[in-house]
Amino acid sequence: MHVDIKKKQAGIKSIEKGLEESRARRHLRIILCGCFYYSGLIGLICWWKQLLEPRLLILNYHEATGGDLRRHLLYLRKYYRIEPLVTALESFYKQPRQSKKSRDQRIPLVMTFDDGYYDNYTHGLALAKELCVPLTIFLIPGYIENGHRFWWNEAKSIDRFVQLPMVAFEGHKYHLDQPVERAALLKLIDTRVRYAATVGEREQFLEMVHQTLGIPAACPEEQVHLPVTWEEVQKMEASGWISFGAHTMHHPFLGYLTHVDEVVSEVVEGREALQQKLGHPVVTFAYPGGQPEQIGAYGQHAARQAGFDWALTTIQGVNRCDTDPLMLRRIEVNLSDHWLVMAAKTSGLLGFFLRLRQLPRAFLKTLKEKKKADHYVDFGTCSD
Ligand SMILES: [Zn+2]
Repeated sequence: MHVDIKKKQAGIKSIEKGLEESRARRHLRIILCGCFYYSGLIGLICWWKQLLEPRLLILNYHEATGGDLRRHLLYLRKYYRIEPLVTALESFYKQPRQSKKSRDQRIPLVMTFDDGYYDNYTHGLALAKELCVPLTIFLIPGYIENGHRFWWNEAKSIDRFVQLPMVAFEGHKYHLDQPVERAALLKLIDTRVRYAATVGEREQFLEMVHQTLGIPAACPEEQVHLPVTWEEVQKMEASGWISFGAHTMHHPFLGYLTHVDEVVSEVVEGREALQQKLGHPVVTFAYPGGQPEQIGAYGQHAARQAGFDWALTTIQGVNRCDTDPLMLRRIEVNLSDHWLVMAAKTSGLLGFFLRLRQLPRAFLKTLKEKKKADHYVDFGTCSD
């Protein structure tokens, strides 16, 4: 018992130490990005890059709360030309040189929000109107219809709401008052829904989880993390500041689905449902997850089959005139990032600096591998 308490105290101390370190690292990063910004380096880099060749920046956010979106927008609208997604893509692909020669010399930038969280309506819309900034939101009709929490938030919600001290799950007992067993169960649930082979399999599994743990598919306490309703979608569109793109019908990672037909139907049905509700064509699409392995071998084929003009990934980068319109790059922004960090990230300066910092480590690793290889060669020579 005494040993247990000592172990727990040691664990808490190491967590606290880790938190202090990450806090210190966060502060250091803000100071560094502040130096980039106030020295004028960020402005210089943006001006230089735009001079070299036209480029289009697409930022990727999710929720509109949990950070200072207002401060992000105030910075971005000052230094970039923020446009609605379709307008920006049309002018960039059709007349990139002409847009370069336009009176407004700032780099064009698009603000995108994936998944359609309720706070996009409560906070995002209010800020878009107040600051006159257009936003594009990618919606998932299946979730709007059922109002359930998104599958990737299940583990977090279970951790928050589950009351049972012990649960028998798939033939194994988990003592939920023991942090290790609790974490193991949450990890198991997250892995099963993340890598589900079909949407049906995922939904069946979640139904069983909700029944076993006594948690409803949506709790009023977590409303900001739930999807918007169709009524809210209509209100946002009527404001003139929000436009919408499709994000599949139920948000599976297309690359993990086992049947090509389901990959195509998820993308096609998502577009059709959205068009029916909005009453006009939807020409932009964002791949769920957006990384190459999540897009999979058939993701692009499905986007083409569905008739989308443009499809957005989460592959980090900026778009140039020769970027594949169905594999557009985005810059992932964490809303909890300080606006100075976001500014350095958007300019590409932070990424460059971080890569530079990793160079000595990469060099040492190469040296070590070379030394190892030489050792094996020597050994081989001796044994011969
Ligand atoms: Zn998504």
